[in-house]
Amino acid sequence: MAIEPTAAGGPGTDIFDAKMIIGGEPVDAADGQTFEIVNPADGASFATAPLGGKADVDRAVEAARAAFEAPKGWGTWAAGKRGRTLAKLADLLKKNSEELAQLESRNTGKPITAARGEVVGASLVFDYYAGAANKIFGETIPVSRPGLDLTLREPIGVVGLIVPWNYPLYLASWKVAPALAAGNTAVLKPASWGPLTCIRMAELALEAGLPPGVLNVVTGPGGSAGAALAAHPGVGKVAFTGETTTGQEIMRLASGNLKKVSLELGGKSPNVVYADADLDRFMAEAPGAVFDNCGQDCTARSRIIVERSIHDQVVERFAEATRKLVVGDPADEGTQIGPLVSFKQRDRVKDYIDGALAEGAELVAGGGPPEDPALAKGAYLMPTVFDRVGPEMRIAREEVFGPVVSILPFDTEAEAIQLANATPYGLAGSVWSRDIGRALRTAKGIQSGAIAVNAGTVVHVEAPFGGYKMSGVGRELGMAAIELYTETKNVFIDLR
Ligand code: NDP
Repeated sequence: MAIEPTAAGGPGTDIFDAKMIIGGEPVDAADGQTFEIVNPADGASFATAPLGGKADVDRAVEAARAAFEAPKGWGTWAAGKRGRTLAKLADLLKKNSEELAQLESRNTGKPITAARGEVVGASLVFDYYAGAANKIFGETIPVSRPGLDLTLREPIGVVGLIVPWNYPLYLASWKVAPALAAGNTAVLKPASWGPLTCIRMAELALEAGLPPGVLNVVTGPGGSAGAALAAHPGVGKVAFTGETTTGQEIMRLASGNLKKVSLELGGKSPNVVYADADLDRFMAEAPGAVFDNCGQDCTARSRIIVERSIHDQVVERFAEATRKLVVGDPADEGTQIGPLVSFKQRDRVKDYIDGALAEGAELVAGGGPPEDPALAKGAYLMPTVFDRVGPEMRIAREEVFGPVVSILPFDTEAEAIQLANATPYGLAGSVWSRDIGRALRTAKGIQSGAIAVNAGTVVHVEAPFGGYKMSGVGRELGMAAIELYTETKNVFIDLR
């Protein structure tokens, strides 16, 4: 079967020019400029995408506004019909999953098996919000004056969605699905290191029956296209996932028209392991919890905080498990760890490794690029383990966003909690213990939006996700995300 060319390219397409999707049409940037898309596994450029800017954001917001305000516009559709359309999009994502996974893997370097899982994950997010669309309820409230007081949940209007490169399609689904389910129209700005699957999703949305303009995609630099979207007076809400410092800038930009703002930001998540933990279970999950996606995960359990009596044993077993991870070409079915997303990101992570060595941390695994000459052209780093990390070191406090873990010992429960909290972040974490009381006390003591007990990374579409402290504002996923994309209107009816 021949694969039809798409705006985002696809398997079988060699070098291609991707297009943005505005008002249902594949378009170039207003000024015709483009940027290159590079495969981090070999450094080869394999596509271009439009270098959108303010003029393109203006066009996209206009298209989204028209789709929202049209007499039979998206916001006026019966909620169930909106839901059924989103369910069709979920099905189309599944139907096209191999093409999407190949595109994601080639664009970001993630192993193909992981990319397949993420496409399925994105389609499940659309399934969830397809079902949620007609379950967005108001309340009736007993007030003092005789009459009926009730609330309506209404869409905000046009929303701006800005997403990062680590899980381009999957994280876009976290925003697009609830925003559209609630009746908003959207302008999506993907990351410049991973825009292709977002474009493809917008094409499939049209195929599913979303009217043109309901979902627009503008590619281009964060500093111009992203900033224009965050500041746009025609946008009522901005939802952002990315670095904490960018989140701070988004808040400033959004203040012009006091947009609603939700932010999913960085993390430095602790993996606390007590001496009474089931170490076999811990070892089965802990390497993946930090090294999956090459450590480029906001919930990466990048600090192992271990009770001193089992410290040596954990270091030894963890280092051994790390050395066994298969680092290789993302296209190979057996690869567990691919390259980082780009050479720039690889160099940034390498700086952290060098800094940790200079500060006196002890390297027990990895620390540099792989020796395999077949991988020499890619942005690879071996999964890296540091022991004897002090809480004051940069590697213990800052988000590395790469395949690096720090191991820190503790003596008491109070010290474990204090170490876990010793960063500006508070996104996720894990606690391992057979003593449920202690596990729960530790879970409650850690200032963070999500804690897993006796489990590694867990994210459920049905459950809220978001950060304490500098890790974010608001909660995505579950019905909590619907709060982010609706206004509450109070209506009082005097019944006398
Ligand atoms: P960035 O903050 O650099 O970029 C995220 C997005 O914002 C990209 O689309 C980027 O565009 C855009 N952007 C950049 N600058 C601006 C600006 N001034 N105004 C508006 N938009 C802008 O983050 P990364 O892409 O590097 O992503 C990695 C970060 O994301 C990590 O810190 C990670 O922890 C965090 N993250 C958080 C998650 C969470 O749920 N809490 C989940 C996943 C990641 P461009 O690509 O063109 O620069």
